[in-house]
Amino acid sequence: TTVAAAISTVLTLSLASCGEGSDAGSGDETASVGIAMPTKTSQRWIDDGRNMVDELKGFGYTTTLKYADNDPKNQVAQVQAMIDDGVDALVIASVDGRAFTDVLSKAKDSGIPVISYDRLILGSDAVNYYASFDNVKVGAQQADFIVESLGLVNGSRKGPFTIELFAGSSDDNNTRYFFDASMEVLEPYIQNGDLIVRSGETDLDQVTTLRWDGPTAEKRMNKILDSKYNGQTIDAVLSPYDGMSLGILNALKEHGYGGAGKPLPIVTGQDAEAPSIKSIVEGEQTQTIYKDTRELALVTSYMVNSVVHDKKPAVNDTRTYNNGKKVVPAYLLEPVSVDKGNYEQVLIDSGYMKKSDLK
Ligand code: BGC
Repeated sequence: TTVAAAISTVLTLSLASCGEGSDAGSGDETASVGIAMPTKTSQRWIDDGRNMVDELKGFGYTTTLKYADNDPKNQVAQVQAMIDDGVDALVIASVDGRAFTDVLSKAKDSGIPVISYDRLILGSDAVNYYASFDNVKVGAQQADFIVESLGLVNGSRKGPFTIELFAGSSDDNNTRYFFDASMEVLEPYIQNGDLIVRSGETDLDQVTTLRWDGPTAEKRMNKILDSKYNGQTIDAVLSPYDGMSLGILNALKEHGYGGAGKPLPIVTGQDAEAPSIKSIVEGEQTQTIYKDTRELALVTSYMVNSVVHDKKPAVNDTRTYNNGKKVVPAYLLEPVSVDKGNYEQVLIDSGYMKKSDLK
């Protein structure tokens, strides 16, 4: 597959550039890496943390892993403590992408390289590299799924259909990438009347969801259904993240969707988390985006090993991610759209998930 090819390129380049490969650190001592993760409320970040620790251990590094309970101040303090402890590199999946300007200038002064993990850190020239997925593709895949399932692409069904739009947290740089890419697909249909957004809320700042919170999304969905869909049916909901999709589905079910004669609308998602895959198997959530976090940890750990050895890691994007201070060289992995038709092949056969995880 293309992903396997990409990974093997990373492996080859990094090993070639590092000589010994697993001889961590510049001197004889074991190098240490600080890993800052946002939250344990979502399984994907728990997996990300564990995968990063395992991969870096494989290189012989010691690690400090901290979760910030989605609190930006807390996370900055955690990173500050890692710098004070003298870590040799930092890997940060930020809560608030704009909160790190000061603390990372200290990292830079101390010569500590920084890798932005999954989410780009903004407003700092101290970010050396970015490892993530193709976030533009994620947003496009969510919206493509909607217009294809509604039959609008091949013209097999005629609109108008109703849709509501949700976006992620405004302090996460990915949010804008996901939403803009989705809107690029949806906008022509909104323009020509095939899709109707009854709430009228189509601007990013009207549809963001602080900290990607499921109950917040549920509340907004309830409010929209109460005020805009009396006697009207909703056909689709653009949701950027599984935890929000499940909240949105709660609101829909409270309003009778999923019951007799009132099918649930199409509801997208992201991360292929077990509760959402269960929901997809049960015919509730319709789609999600699978991002193999094992590969993200692998790519990131090779990046760490390169920067610690003053070598250049492999990147495959050097123009998309401008953080306001610099264009951060990035390695972007491929997301995969998952629904009821392909979840076994994509998630179970690949070993990402076991059938028993879906009980
Ligand atoms: C990640 C998504 C995730 C979301 C909420 C984003 O930054 O890229 O994979 O669904 O955060 O945790």
